[in-house]
Amino acid sequence: MSYAVTLIPGDGIGPELADAALTVLSATGVEFEWERQDAGEAQLERHGTPLPPAVLDSIRRNRVALKGPITTPVGEGFRSVNVTLRQELDLYANVRPAHTIRGIPSRYEDVDLIIVRENTEDLYAGVEHRVGPDAAESIKIITRAASERIARYAFDYAVANGRRKVTAVHKANIMKLSDGLFLESCRTIAADYEGRIEFEDRIVDNMCMQLVQKPELYDVLVLPNLYGDIVSDLAAGLVGGLGVAPGANIGTEAAVFEPVHGSAPKYAGQDVANPTALILSAALMLRHLGEQAAAEGVERAVREVYADGRTVPRDIGGSAGTRDFAAAVADRVAGVPVSR
Ligand code: NAD
Repeated sequence: MSYAVTLIPGDGIGPELADAALTVLSATGVEFEWERQDAGEAQLERHGTPLPPAVLDSIRRNRVALKGPITTPVGEGFRSVNVTLRQELDLYANVRPAHTIRGIPSRYEDVDLIIVRENTEDLYAGVEHRVGPDAAESIKIITRAASERIARYAFDYAVANGRRKVTAVHKANIMKLSDGLFLESCRTIAADYEGRIEFEDRIVDNMCMQLVQKPELYDVLVLPNLYGDIVSDLAAGLVGGLGVAPGANIGTEAAVFEPVHGSAPKYAGQDVANPTALILSAALMLRHLGEQAAAEGVERAVREVYADGRTVPRDIGGSAGTRDFAAAVADRVAGVPVSR
C-alpha cells in the first residue's frame, strides 16, 4: 500500500533537509504519495497569507504531514505559521524525544528524555496588545481541559512506551492561577495512574538546573507551551544539539512530524545543515503509520552511521554535507555493507 502524506519542505534549510529525508524514506521500501505544499513568507507574497488554506486542507485530508522549518519574522510581521498550524489542526501534543546517540559527542551519557509540550495555548495563544506607546501585554491562557488532555497524553505515552515516571514542570509558585491550574490538572490525571507511573513536579528554573546536572534522573516531562519550547532546546543540547532533535505534533485528527530546530537561514542552500532531526522525525512518522520495522531500520541506520564516524555532519564535528549524510543513512537502511 501507499501512504498519501503532505510534505511541507519549509524554507531556509528546510527544502534540502526534506530532500534528504525523502532519500532515506525511499530506501525503506515503504511507498508514499507525497502531496507537496508550501507555506511561509513566499506564500504571503503570492497568496496574501503565509498559510494558504490548501495547506491545511491537504493535512486534514491526509491526516499526516512531514514538515521542514518555516521562518517567522522576529518582533514584527506575520504570526508564526508553525504555531498557527498546530492551533488550527489542534495538534495538542508536541512530543520531542532526546536520546543519547553513540558517536555524537556530548557532555552527557545515557540521556533518555521525552518532552511532552502542550501545543495550543499558554503565551502562544497570540493574545497580546500594546498599552500605549511604552507598554505591551501578552496574555497567558491556561485551561483545565487542555492541561488535563496533555497530562493524560504524557501518562498514556509513559504506559504505552514502558516509561516509569512523569514530571510536571511549572512556575506555580509565582503564577499561582495559570501554572497553578496546570499543576492541579496534572495531579488530577496522575491519580488515575497511581501505582503504575510515578509522578512528581518541578519548578521550571530548578528543572533546567537539574537537567544540566543530572538528566539521567528524568524520564517523561510534561510542560505548558512556553516552558516546553525552551526545555526541548535544552534537552536537544544534552544529546548533541538541534541538528539531531526530532519532533511530532499529535492531534486527534492529524499529526505533523517536524524537527525541533528552525530554518537556520545562515546555512540555507549550502549542503551543510544536518538532516538527522528531520530523518528521525520521519522515523517517528513511520511509527505513527504502523511501519515499525521501517522506523527501526531508519533509527538503526542513523545510529550506525554515527557509530561508524566517517560520514558525520559539521555541527557534530565532521565534514559530511547534507546529501552525503542522507546517502550514507539510506545505504544502511537498504542494507548496503560498509566499505572501508
Ligand atoms: P534555529 O533552530 O534555526 O537555529 C539555532 C542554531 O542551531 C543556529 O546556530 C543554527 O544554525 C543551528 N541549527 C539549527 N538546525 C540545524 C541543523 N539542522 N544543522 C545544523 N545546525 C542547525 O533557531 P533560530 O535561529 O532561533 O530561528 C531561525 C528561524 O527559524 C526563525 O525564523 C524562527 O522563528 C524559526 N523557527 C521555526 C521553527 C519551526 O519551523 N518549527 C522552530 C524554531 C524556529
